[in-house]
Amino acid sequence: MFYAAVGIKQIQAHLARSRHLWGRRGASDMLFYLTDVSGVADGIQRSDRNLWTVTEILSTHPGVALNPDAADTDGVVQLMSADRAKVEAAAREIAINVKLHLPAATVETSIREAATFVDTLRAERDAQPADNRAYPSSVIEFPLAHHCDECSSAMASGRITVREQQLRLCRDCASRAPGPRNVTLQRARETPVSGFMVEQRMLRDLKLNQVEDFKQLAKLGRLPEGHAPRTSTDNHIATIFADGNGLGALFDHLREDAIEKGNTGHLLDVSKRIKNATEDGLKAAIRSTLSPERDGAIMAAIPHILGGDDVLVSVPATRVWPFLRAFMTTMKDKLSDEAFEGAGSISFSAGVVICHQAFPIGDQVELAENLLRRAKKQVYGDGWTFAWQDVTNEGTSPGDRVLAMEDWPRLDELIHTAKNLGEERKGNTARATVRSELRIPDIETRSLRLRHLADRLGGAKDLFDLAFGNSWREGNVTDAHTSDLLAALSIMRWLA
Ligand SMILES: [Zn+2]
Repeated sequence: MFYAAVGIKQIQAHLARSRHLWGRRGASDMLFYLTDVSGVADGIQRSDRNLWTVTEILSTHPGVALNPDAADTDGVVQLMSADRAKVEAAAREIAINVKLHLPAATVETSIREAATFVDTLRAERDAQPADNRAYPSSVIEFPLAHHCDECSSAMASGRITVREQQLRLCRDCASRAPGPRNVTLQRARETPVSGFMVEQRMLRDLKLNQVEDFKQLAKLGRLPEGHAPRTSTDNHIATIFADGNGLGALFDHLREDAIEKGNTGHLLDVSKRIKNATEDGLKAAIRSTLSPERDGAIMAAIPHILGGDDVLVSVPATRVWPFLRAFMTTMKDKLSDEAFEGAGSISFSAGVVICHQAFPIGDQVELAENLLRRAKKQVYGDGWTFAWQDVTNEGTSPGDRVLAMEDWPRLDELIHTAKNLGEERKGNTARATVRSELRIPDIETRSLRLRHLADRLGGAKDLFDLAFGNSWREGNVTDAHTSDLLAALSIMRWLA
């Protein structure tokens, strides 16, 4: 038997080519349409979608079938056939169909010959080379041509009107532009289970409407008078990229188990459970941060993608901390309830970017990915950690700050005490002053200024005693002393 996989690689990077939310949403729709094998895409009239589905392509390749033993991974189509030439031709056509509509996507096909699918897992484990073929992100360059208005990474090939604006777009962005096929997909009778369609699924499950763009999402974060920790709370959003730790080792183990038993049943079951748990965690976090009196029937979250164990989602900036805590707490509970062996060894890390709503989505994703990597590295891939960057206040180059879920009680204590800084109405200014003194690079100057501040700013003495320890005035205030307090003050900038 010949087994083939057609997979889209670097999906996050492909989604993140866009500057705007419509581009990311359009890319999700297209990635779903072009790799769907559930039948949902086939159920949409061809005149509406204007593209061939995998099922339609396979119907012209007799002797090639979908492989039922392979894990259901979004963006990967698994095929099998007794004939190498036939499976090769089908895989190539599916890959070319993706490239036709999304030329910036990276597609790879991989073919192995084996007696059973489990034997291909063994070959993979033993690092035996497969017959791979790459279809890299390809964009034909014409010198002097106009760059694409949306992604700037390719040359424009046509003019398209998006939200009443005439844009010159490359072919990939043109495919993403809002059109009948997006609308029809949103109204499809069945809700696709694909991770590309996670936003649609959440909207249906929670019976809420879609937020139009980042501007509207940011506005939902506006705090009522008196609650506002700062003057404007309605123009910032936060993008969270969370991902499981310890999955690599778990799946190595499950693959060994499948090879030994000769079937992939348990492997498929566990990967499905992890995906479901992650989706439940996301839903719980969205639900717990909704504010019906302020949001009406709008869902104040934009889930961008749900992989097996990774999730990318944007929320109003003033709801990011409750959201992150709800997500992690739910995941911890869910995994401790899961019956399968190894569930207890999984943890999650997150990278969080807080920024103005106009900061391009591509830059948000890139920075969130970078922060996520730092959060994971800190605990060698085993622990509930998070790293964040408040772009407006801290710039775009990430520092080394990584905290863990266990740090919250300490942070809560510091936050509680820092609320007493300055007079009630000037709290925000007082915190900004403390922040800038804490950041003074020269330790002696810093220590001197903080001692002075402790005597003249209301609430500062108690806060410093708590943050640095009671005898802090006797020595210098080092970076080790200030890091927790700086973290707490950074969190407070967007804490409701
Ligand atoms: Zn483009």
